[in-house]
Amino acid sequence: MNLSVLNDLVLKVHNHTRLSASDKAYIRNKLPRMLAGRRAFQATVSYAHPAGVTIRGAPAGSFVKAFALLLGKKAFGTKRIIGHPLYDDLEKSLTIGILRTNFEFGRPKGFYCCPRCSLAVFPLLELDLLHYLRGKDLARDMRRRIESREGPFEHGVADRLVEFALSF
Ligand SMILES: [Zn+2]
Repeated sequence: MNLSVLNDLVLKVHNHTRLSASDKAYIRNKLPRMLAGRRAFQATVSYAHPAGVTIRGAPAGSFVKAFALLLGKKAFGTKRIIGHPLYDDLEKSLTIGILRTNFEFGRPKGFYCCPRCSLAVFPLLELDLLHYLRGKDLARDMRRRIESREGPFEHGVADRLVEFALSF
């Protein structure tokens, strides 16, 4: 699946460039159809992250999910529930994943699955885009852990991924 448009739009949000009307139309209409139709999240085995790092395995799906939801929130202009089935499913699934990582696996609040998946969701927390969570509070603690490379961030995460996640 070609995710180059998704990546271009993620870069715009990352760089604080305004999304155009056609960008927003793409995110509202085409992107969800493409992602739902191709079972993108289950089938994403490799993702070319805009920071120039190829992500493989489960974290590839996490990045696509988290970035798609980030774009959805921006295009629909809300931090609340969007009211679109695909984006709302993404929000629930990511939120439950974050809660489970704490409840079931005892990781610090705000973490998701593994270090790379945690970097995938970090911008959603920092920009406070997950309706059910206090994103800013979680992001503050998580940023400190990421910056100081505390567990589980001691190794296995590329610097470029960290820099990208922390600079939205
Ligand atoms: Zn993971």
